[in-house]
Order: sequence, then structure tokens, then C-alpha cells
Amino acid sequence: MTDLTRLETAQEIVLNAIQPLGCEKIGLLDSLGRVLGEDIIAPRDNPPWDNSAMDGFAVRWEDIKQEHAIAKIPELVIIEDVPAGAVATKAVGKGQAIRIMTGAPIPEGADTVVRVEYTEATGDRVRILKTESGRGANIRPRGEDVKRGDCIIRKGTLLRPAEVGMLAILAKSFLMVHQRPRVAILSTGDELIDLDEQFDEHKIVNSNSYGIAAGVQEAGGIPVLLGIAKDDLNALAAKIQQGLGCELLVLSGGVSMGDYDFTKAVFAQLGAEMNFWKLAIRPGQPVAFGRIQRTLAFGLPGNPVSSMVTFDQLVRPAILKMGGHQTWQRPVVQAVFQETFTKQPDRRHFLRGILRRENGVLTVRTTGGQGSGILTSLVKANGLIDIPVEVERLNPGDLVNVQLLTHNF
Ligand code: AMP
Ligand code: MG
Repeated sequence: MTDLTRLETAQEIVLNAIQPLGCEKIGLLDSLGRVLGEDIIAPRDNPPWDNSAMDGFAVRWEDIKQEHAIAKIPELVIIEDVPAGAVATKAVGKGQAIRIMTGAPIPEGADTVVRVEYTEATGDRVRILKTESGRGANIRPRGEDVKRGDCIIRKGTLLRPAEVGMLAILAKSFLMVHQRPRVAILSTGDELIDLDEQFDEHKIVNSNSYGIAAGVQEAGGIPVLLGIAKDDLNALAAKIQQGLGCELLVLSGGVSMGDYDFTKAVFAQLGAEMNFWKLAIRPGQPVAFGRIQRTLAFGLPGNPVSSMVTFDQLVRPAILKMGGHQTWQRPVVQAVFQETFTKQPDRRHFLRGILRRENGVLTVRTTGGQGSGILTSLVKANGLIDIPVEVERLNPGDLVNVQLLTHNF
């Protein structure tokens, strides 16, 4: 079918329309999951001085090197104790040692640390029972981790626990990160009721707003829920207006065959330029995208699975890019398909799958019924099996690409 738009084309158009937002200053403890908005230059070396990697004795290699039998190494005189956090006041001279704890600065005169297990101390004397590998053993040199003036974390980096720890080393209690996009979410349809309304078995609970809000949060955006708009031109236009202060607007419903002209009319009334696509994907064929004033708007299909899958493939990357992320693809793994599957070679399919590791091999099977209204198909899934447009048949044992929806499985 020639009137279908490839998902890759739509993704490119969406991403090309997105610019990363500006930056804001936040506290270090709020930085997890944010995207760094500045290059971080080390203000000093880390570690700041040569320090001991072991509890033991700081000595002169000359005094303990093993040119003769170990028994001939003379006893050394312990002239000082340096616990962690303290600094030696004396220098290690010939025949002397300073007791030192892990992390403490290496005293002057010493060039080697002998770990405590290799020694026997009595009073102010220590005997070396075994020497270390050479001069400099058990010494962590100044700046081995971070060198003053180096760029340690680059702008655009996603901040994980490791980066947060490093930022603490670099004394960044406050830092610049990209702002989080605000995403207005609006569900449309006369058939919908919201969670706080009286349950009515003839109506459909608005689940999309909540699933989409969660997807927005997962991608680092701030959801702004606008509720439900009736299938009425003025009502819908009024609700959309409320969302125009946000960077993005996500509508669900109103883009399928029956609603299409209506939604199109609303967008036209608001002066929007919209692309209406019939995407070559399943689930989720009809999707709209365009700009209303300064807000980028998405119209996603109403069926819950279609709405979540199109959100995942189009809106999630947009939120990530806007939030300053430099990558927005979900991780993809290859897995061995366990079923038989046939389709027309006209659309890219996203089957909801369960990935498992079986005897060291990744396998994947579908979650069962794959209808676009069967949200349990996504609830049970830890991956989206990505079947290319051209493929017509898959057999058990075939390799497929799977987009990971969870990090642990
Ligand atoms: P539409 O895309 O507007 O034609 O909607 C298709 C179907 O999706 C509707 O008949 C509903 O069953 C379902 N639907 C639409 N909007 C929502 C929503 N916000 N939450 C849950 N289901 C919805
Ligand atoms: Mg509708």
C-alpha cells in the first residue's frame, strides 16, 4: 500500500522539529536521571595527594628490597602513626617506618607501603615478613583518577549514580542540567469517563491519559493532565488552548477514520500545520503531528495499545531529545523467536513479547492476544518484537530484534 508512511520517516520529521530545551540550576541530590547542561572541568586533582592503598607501613624501598634473604631485612623503627584523615608530621628516614591507614597521605621520605599482613610489629619495631612487588607498591598516585583542568563529564551526559558520585568529588553541589519538557495530555471522545467519575459500564475509562503521563515521566518530561475533551469542535479547541503553554501536547483519540476530519478541522481552526499520517506500523496506524503556535502536538490513536506504542516510537524520542539526551533509541537485543507468525509485507509490526534467557540464549515469545485494545499484552511484556515491513513470515528459531522495555530480566 503506497499511502502508508514509514515509521522511520515520521521519526525523522519529528526529531528534526525538536530542539533541546535550555538549562536550569539544580542541587546535586536532584540530579539523578537529568542531562548535564555544562562541561564539568576538574578544579583539582583526585586523589589530591599520593596516598596509601592499604593499611600497613610506609617505608623506603631501599630498606626492604630483597637483594638478600628476607630474614636479613633489619627491623624498622616505627616513628609515627598516621590514621586516615591525618597527615604525618615526620619524614621516613633510613631504617624507619610510619604506620599508615588506607587513604592517608604518603609521608615524606617513604616511597612504598608494605601491607600490614606482611609485617609483624612489636612495640616501636616492625619486622618485614614479605616484601612487596617493588618501589611504589600500594601507593595511589595523586591525580590517578582525575587531573586538574581535564573535562571529566561532558555536556549532554545522562547523570547516573557514578556521575553523581564524581560530581561530589568535583565539589559540584549545584549544576546546570537541561530543563524537562512539559507535556500536556488530552484524551478525546464522548465515550470516555475519568477515574473520579461515577463508573458507567457503557463508558470507557480514560486510561490513556495515565499511561501516557507515566510514559512522559519515564522519559524525563513533566506531564500536565488536561482531562477529557468531548467530540465537539469548540470543546476540543478550548482544551487544546489550555495546553499551549507546554512544549508538547499529546492527544489520544480522534485520529481514526471516523474522527479524522473533525480533528483536522480543530487543528485548522487553531492555525496549526499538521501532518496526518497513516503510518506503516501495527498497532497504531493513524497519527497526527504538527505545530500549534509554539507547541508541538501529537495526535495518537485512541486504542490503548496503539496509543502506548506510538507514544513509545514517536513521542518518547521527542521528549528525550528535548530534555537534552543525545540518544533516544531503546536498547535492542536479538532473540530467538519461539512461534510462527505471518503478516502482510506492508507494515512494521511491534508484537508485545516476553524475553527470557534460557540456557544462555535469549528467547522471545508473544504475550498472547495482540489486539490493539488488549493492554495486558503490554503489561506482560518486557520487550517489543520489531518485525520489519517486508517480512511475511517468522518461524520458530528465527532471529528477531527486540526493543527492551525493562532493564532487568
Ligand atoms: P479513536 O481513536 O478515538 O477512534 O478511539 C478508538 C477507541 O480507543 C475508542 O473506541 C476507545 O475504545 C479507545 N479509547 C479512546 N480514547 C481512550 C482513552 N483515553 N483511554 C482508553 N481508551 C480509549
Ligand atoms: Mg474517538
